[in-house]
Amino acid sequence: MRSEAIAAGIDAALFDRVFAGVTPDPAVLKADSSQPEFTRPVWEYLDGAVSSSRIGRGRVLLAQHNAMLQRIEQQYGVEAQILVAIWGLESNFGNNIGSHSVIRSLATLAYDGRRQGFWRAQLLAALQILQNGDVPSERMIGSWAGAMGQTQFMPTTYNQHAVDFDGDGKRDLWNSQADALASAAHYLQASGWQRGQPWGFEVNLPSGFDYALADPDQRRTLAEWAELGVRPLAPTGAAASSRASLQLPAGHQGPAFLLLDNFRSILKYNNSTSYALAIGLLADNLLRTTEIKGQWPRGERQLGRSERVELQELLAQAGFDPGPADGIIGANTRKAIRALQLQLNWPADGYPNTQLLEQLRTR
Ligand code: CA
Repeated sequence: MRSEAIAAGIDAALFDRVFAGVTPDPAVLKADSSQPEFTRPVWEYLDGAVSSSRIGRGRVLLAQHNAMLQRIEQQYGVEAQILVAIWGLESNFGNNIGSHSVIRSLATLAYDGRRQGFWRAQLLAALQILQNGDVPSERMIGSWAGAMGQTQFMPTTYNQHAVDFDGDGKRDLWNSQADALASAAHYLQASGWQRGQPWGFEVNLPSGFDYALADPDQRRTLAEWAELGVRPLAPTGAAASSRASLQLPAGHQGPAFLLLDNFRSILKYNNSTSYALAIGLLADNLLRTTEIKGQWPRGERQLGRSERVELQELLAQAGFDPGPADGIIGANTRKAIRALQLQLNWPADGYPNTQLLEQLRTR
């Protein structure tokens, strides 16, 4: 790594100083290799992420930092409530920024983790941040995976998108709220954020709706969705020509949302539908209380990882094409589930649940 870093312009003395006494961190490797059997259902995740205490704290901070947030919004075109929502989810408004040495974590992962190429690039970027003088090495702390500061930027993201908004010459996402929030705005702007557009909103579906249309790949204008009988619960302020996809995060038994381009910008920050929904819903609630009207199927048990793998294997055995049996429900698996659901004359929402698995087991 040393020769690679020096070839990339890192000062040899800096490299040697930063790496003096660095040892592998077994806790980091353990975290990297753990594959949790159970994932939290989306409603449980949202209960925690968009809690009343977080909404309350967010509202206080939104008011307290109003002037700064307005300046950021003017410059980068990202609304204040979205930035405060990201701040709240990433670090609980700066209160939880991690305590791992970023260099030690990244060096461990680059040496011994999966995806070594990715981690080497992150480690090199972290060295560039140190060389740039944004933060002294002993204060470069973060999550076990090297996410840093109040907005939890990975080092490559930091180098591309972090900004010095308070004008002290340093991009300091640990200690400067202005730098952190402006950097999040700069990142969202680069991810195509459109000011004044909603991220999405909850909708009602007409009876007999074709659930095959509820898929991230099925993008239509709001006018087209309206023609299909998809109705927002409240006026949205979005142009009829805006494009959106319809998503049912818990299948046809749960609430439905139309998701616009800004939702995809949030996914670039963190590629998780639950996360992006939480950001959108928290941001809405910072402005005014907005409750989800649809009922989550809270009695439903989520399939664990090994059950999802079994589901994929059984789908393949039954002649469908769910893609590799990796336990990840992607586009191919959703398509295979829908095909089976259509065959069974069930609502074809592409959502994996216990009934579907039971059905396949009895074949
Ligand atoms: Ca600064």
